[in-house]
Amino acid sequence: LNRQAPDYLAGLNPEQRDAVLTTEGPLLVLAGAGTGKTRVLTTRIAHILNQRMAWGSQILAVTFTNKAASEMKRRIHEIVPNFDGLPWMGTFHSVSARILRAHAELVDLKPAFTILDTDDQIRLIKQLLEVENIDEKRWPARQFAGILDAWKNRGWLPKDVPASETGHFANGKAGKLYYDYQARLKTLNAADFGDLLLECIRLFRENPEVLAEYHRKFRYMLVDEYQDSNTAQYLWLRLLAQGKPAPEANICVVGDDDQSIYGWRGAEVDNILRFETDFPGAKVIKLERNYRSTANILKAASTLIAFNEDRLGKTLHTDIAEAGEPISFTQVYDSEEEARTVGEEIEQYQRQGESLNSIAILVRASYQMRELEERFITLGLNYRVVGGPRFYERKEIRDALAYLRLVAQPADDLAFERIINVPKRGLGDSTVKLLIEAARHQNVPLLSATRMLTETEELKPKQRSTLRALVSQFDSWAYRAENLPPYQLVEQILEESGYMDMLTADKSAESQGRKENLKELSRSMEEFESLGGFLEHISLVMDRDSADASDAVTIMTLHSAKGLEFNTVFLTGWEEGTFPSQRSMDESGKAGLEEERRLAYVGITRGRNRVRISAAQNRRIHGLWQSAMPSRFVDELPPDAVVVTDRGSAYGGYGYGGGATSRFNKADPFESLYETPGWQRARANQATRKGSGPLTIEGELVARSVDLGGQSSGYKVGERVFHLKFGYGEVISVEGNKLTIDFEKAGTKKVLESFIQRG
Ligand code: ATP
Ligand code: MG
Repeated sequence: LNRQAPDYLAGLNPEQRDAVLTTEGPLLVLAGAGTGKTRVLTTRIAHILNQRMAWGSQILAVTFTNKAASEMKRRIHEIVPNFDGLPWMGTFHSVSARILRAHAELVDLKPAFTILDTDDQIRLIKQLLEVENIDEKRWPARQFAGILDAWKNRGWLPKDVPASETGHFANGKAGKLYYDYQARLKTLNAADFGDLLLECIRLFRENPEVLAEYHRKFRYMLVDEYQDSNTAQYLWLRLLAQGKPAPEANICVVGDDDQSIYGWRGAEVDNILRFETDFPGAKVIKLERNYRSTANILKAASTLIAFNEDRLGKTLHTDIAEAGEPISFTQVYDSEEEARTVGEEIEQYQRQGESLNSIAILVRASYQMRELEERFITLGLNYRVVGGPRFYERKEIRDALAYLRLVAQPADDLAFERIINVPKRGLGDSTVKLLIEAARHQNVPLLSATRMLTETEELKPKQRSTLRALVSQFDSWAYRAENLPPYQLVEQILEESGYMDMLTADKSAESQGRKENLKELSRSMEEFESLGGFLEHISLVMDRDSADASDAVTIMTLHSAKGLEFNTVFLTGWEEGTFPSQRSMDESGKAGLEEERRLAYVGITRGRNRVRISAAQNRRIHGLWQSAMPSRFVDELPPDAVVVTDRGSAYGGYGYGGGATSRFNKADPFESLYETPGWQRARANQATRKGSGPLTIEGELVARSVDLGGQSSGYKVGERVFHLKFGYGEVISVEGNKLTIDFEKAGTKKVLESFIQRG
């Protein structure tokens, strides 16, 4: 560098500058959230280009998503004026696919090979299971797909799979199945997702001259979000970096062990630790200054993550003098009120001039998006769902809705076509075609045509009996639609149609999510008395969807928020069991909990100025209310950086603007309560405030608040009460704020105290 330092270096702190200027030799940047890791990578690429150390085509840059890659390109462009792009910037998979196409014959493929999606993959596995006489009911294809994926993530070809791993599936046949599966892929000229990396590794290992070509080509290698790389990705990188002796390899990886959130997909945070061993003499740079968030946000994130035992440990500080707005924690009555509160607050920020683009709501699981979406639609607030379709556009939801539509409206042919073979009923295209023809011919809806055809000889006996069963199921559902609440009907339909079984057989993480979405669908139907009413509501909601608005709130999962930042971040559903997720804890114990905590850390550190956490006190499951405890993560936040707002108590000033706000300060009458865990605190808060008149929500009398007199209920066994939905009844047992009541008409039900009055 003979000239004055270029402008783009001037804005960096000394450690960042060091990382940008250390272009030769291995470099590990290990630093917390918001310290400028991604900025360092971008500036480093710009610097290499600017100083003409390499052409864009000689730089290999791996990011975690395609979106991140395009964002990086944009930022480089700002620094390097006549920048003509980086052909080798992308995800591990996209770069690998490109390399494989160029050398396809060497891995027994043709350049135009197909990349299989999950459905194709499952179909193929099913065929193999059949050939081997393996009972698919006992050993589902999905399960094997999961096993294959895990093996491929570890970089294992069929010959590499240790014997100890093959015994868990199909009585030891898994190893052979893997060989057969790979052979079939070659015949089909296809690769699955895992193969993209695995076959690339094989290509490099078996063809040193090809590897050497890439060694010459790639002068610089850079990897973002290194903490989430898996073993196959690690091997792939190491091979590509072997062009020079390890101590001279121009490889730069940046990451944060505290943000490793893909362990469930085979990511190995240990890759960070291995780096210094594999590349002896690697320079390690730590960045400790956070440029993204206020001191309160940083303090909250650092305090929380310190509860993890398994971490390298880092410091984070900010130079921003103002501590900023404290993190807020709000308890709301239920998730519907949570959505309402979030909506209100967003509108308020919007009035204060904040752009919707700078606001995000991050959830643990996608089913939690539904109530938020509905609320925003009602408010006319633009939103976008990142990393997946909107709730009612999801495949499983559309399938379920198609069943319901057909029950309500037997002439709905679109719905019929959608579900006729979902789940698979062995009805091929030719059968469906026959049904469609018959319907046209007779000028009747498909369902009627089907009914007619089951009474004739046109269909093969097997198809005929399948369709006959289906038609009579629809008759039965239509009958039940008259008598059952819609949410029960949908559950029965999903069970009886085999839809749930189909998802249960599917062992992928995705299918778990689909089940949760369906549960959420049923939950959303609880407030509707008739199927028609519900479907009407849905068609209105779907119609008012505001797609692709330029200024819109972002709703996404915590996982997909990695690397991003927003001025205001809402973190909803911080309840035990939801977040941390019960499933992660059940399946992976302490490691699972620690990964959940890292996810919480990722969530908090997305916020620049404002982080608002909320939890519902009650959850409705199958029409019954259950109380939920705030997430343990709430208790792990530092009290002096957090303000607690309680909007959830039905006994205090529940409702708009009535939420009592308490601060962690000396004057606080509840101070001593903060020593207790969050949920006890919440209960105690409820108990301390006294009742104040009847409670109305949007004009409707819902409950009359009562003087609790401590934690116990105000009702006694034997007392006569009135419930808005179930009518009159007698209390038969009391359990905290839940009562079991023998209703005169509705039978025995467990209800929440706040929904009844003295009769
Ligand atoms: P994460 O771990 O969340 O991926 P990161 O370490 O990659 O975070 P960046 O996204 O690169 O952090 O940076 C966070 C924010 O701080 C960005 O808005 C970035 O532009 C800004 N930033 C980084 N370094 C500086 C700096 N030296 N001066 C001013 N702003 C900076
Ligand atoms: Mg980053």
